[in-house]
Amino acid sequence: MTSAVVVGGGPNGLAAAALLAKAGLDVTLLEAADEVGGGTRSDEAIVPGLLHDCCSAVHPMAVSSPALRALDLERHGLRWLLPDIDCVHPLDDGSAGVLLRSVADTARMLGPDGDRYRALLAGPVRHWDALAHDVMGPLLRIPTHPLALARFGMPTALPASLLARLFTTRRARALWAGVAAHAFRPLSRPFTSAIGLGILTAGHAAGWAVAEGGSQSIARSMERVLRRHGGTVHTGVRVTDPRQLPSADVTLLDLDPGQVAALYGDRLPARVRGAYRRFRRAPAVFKLDLAVEGGVPWRNEHARRAGTVHLGGPLTEVAGAERAVVAGRMPEHPFVLVGQQYLADPSRSVGDIHPVYTYAHVPYGYDGDATEAILRQLERFAPGVRDRVVGRRATPPARFAAANPNFAGGDIITGARTTPQLLLGPRPTTEPYSTGLPGVFLCSAATPPGPGAHGMCGAGAAVAALRHLGVRAARRH
Ligand SMILES: Cc1cc2nc3c(=O)[nH]c(=O)nc-3n(C[C@H](O)[C@H](O)[C@H](O)COP(=O)(O)OP(=O)(O)OC[C@H]3O[C@@H](n4cnc5c(N)ncnc54)[C@H](O)[C@@H]3O)c2cc1C
Repeated sequence: MTSAVVVGGGPNGLAAAALLAKAGLDVTLLEAADEVGGGTRSDEAIVPGLLHDCCSAVHPMAVSSPALRALDLERHGLRWLLPDIDCVHPLDDGSAGVLLRSVADTARMLGPDGDRYRALLAGPVRHWDALAHDVMGPLLRIPTHPLALARFGMPTALPASLLARLFTTRRARALWAGVAAHAFRPLSRPFTSAIGLGILTAGHAAGWAVAEGGSQSIARSMERVLRRHGGTVHTGVRVTDPRQLPSADVTLLDLDPGQVAALYGDRLPARVRGAYRRFRRAPAVFKLDLAVEGGVPWRNEHARRAGTVHLGGPLTEVAGAERAVVAGRMPEHPFVLVGQQYLADPSRSVGDIHPVYTYAHVPYGYDGDATEAILRQLERFAPGVRDRVVGRRATPPARFAAANPNFAGGDIITGARTTPQLLLGPRPTTEPYSTGLPGVFLCSAATPPGPGAHGMCGAGAAVAALRHLGVRAARRH
């Protein structure tokens, strides 16, 4: 039987493993941690029963991911839940940019900017099912829907700060800046609209969903599919030498390029090794989980019903904070993302104590304490919140890195989305999953389409591995 070994059980390793097992391969997955999940894990660290997402929280890209759909995860225990309001970006005067499920409703909330918002997003959202395959895969290939992709693709090339000029109101510009900040790039750079437009389009098509029972449920459902198709999972195995790997026809690595370069060293072709060593990292996050009695007393009433709240004030302030963290400076008022997953999934709360998820964007490898900066941003838009906090846990960049080398320096998106790395992955090639070693593939979020718990990098690598096996089998006959 043809065999595969997968190193790393994050969403991409799991997706690759499950898809290969489904295709009939004998699959073994090796995971360093005590359980699979990588960036999709949950725990109860503050109050027993109070469920926090350790990493990924909100999943607009995962819900509509062709890879996860192919695994039919809903039949294996995964249930997506949606908040009333997807995302809110409050401003100091109490107003806010409000993102609702439908483009039309969001446009209505945006008043004078509504028509432009509709013009930007209605088309891509309508065609998202067809577009998802092209947008969530390597760009250097022939698209299946070239016209729709071209229409979606043109504005993605714009700097986010330029695209913001489409809008006239402070709240529309701020809403856009908060979504664009997910790129962890200075908003004045080309292609900084790409990630924001991807999130908005997928979000309108499928919602900013959370997984019932915590993000760990995404990993558990993939693990179930893998085992159902005969796959084997070994946890507590950190691979530091290729000689640890069982012999297999193909090997897939859910690892960051730096680790692959260290693992295979001189065995990698020099050009690949060099590219992997030069791979650029993104800024980091400092995460603060809170137990909040009675929830966050947001001044803006929409924020009280929103799954995600972006804190950073107006566009210029968000842009300044993002510029600073990329330059290695800690801003006084960092961009902060707040997750209120319990609104869609009340089972995560304990009585009237609710798990509130926050993180600030900070410089790569930041070794300071951002707790106060995060609490200040919260207090700014929700006066009195400090008095409701009954417990907290801070996760600084170093702890992310220690738990998972893919998050080196606290970079949670596995690599800077500079234009070349955004468009091509870790090296300029039409085969971004290939390591240059026959039968060895990279499948982590460092490869296209990039970060997120959508499994599409794993799916792309699985397809490349199957193609390699097909070619090899054809040569044998
Ligand atoms: C704080 C935070 C918030 C996030 N928020 C979101 C969000 O809201 N929505 C979203 O979609 N995404 C979010 N993400 C990003 C998302 O979690 C990642 O993009 C995704 O997990 C990447 O998946 P992966 O499989 O490529 O790698 P990972 O999830 O990093 O998994 C890699 C796995 O490999 C294992 N491993 C590493 N080295 C070895 C080794 N040598 N031997 C064996 N095993 C090894 C690790 O233990 C880990 O389990 C967030 C991430 C973080 C950290």
